[in-house]
Amino acid sequence: MECIFCSETAIKLEKFYEDENFIAIYNIRPVVKGHCLVIPKRHVESMLELNEKERKDFISFSNKAIFIALKYANANDFDFLLQLGENAGQSIKHLHFHILPRKRNDALAVNKKEFFQSFAEKENTVKTLAQSDMIAVVNELKDIAEKHKIQINEL
Ligand SMILES: [Zn+2]
Repeated sequence: MECIFCSETAIKLEKFYEDENFIAIYNIRPVVKGHCLVIPKRHVESMLELNEKERKDFISFSNKAIFIALKYANANDFDFLLQLGENAGQSIKHLHFHILPRKRNDALAVNKKEFFQSFAEKENTVKTLAQSDMIAVVNELKDIAEKHKIQINEL
């Protein structure tokens, strides 16, 4: 089966940031404003398969993607979520981390026990972004990356 995260054309529209090993895309079904994904370019299913270089670069790249997502969502707080394996809710079998900017009383504001249930439900029910909306969001994310590029490079 074709892996959607390995297909450059499938995620071309959503991609707003990348380096040698990772890309950051906007989620087609954003559960909250600024819901992005950090994805290794190489097809790996698990975190355990990342090589030394990818492991080293991961935090730095994630910091940059988080910085951009938080600016876009005008938020300071976030969840950084990994669902690894079917029983943890991993739907696409290519490693990816969710960046979820958080605000008081947002769409995921429930007690911690209900959080994962709420996240899973919303992931399946929230509407897919229209292509024109996705283009507008990704352009804003790219603008933020460009505007803050000096600061982002230091992360
Ligand atoms: Zn893949």
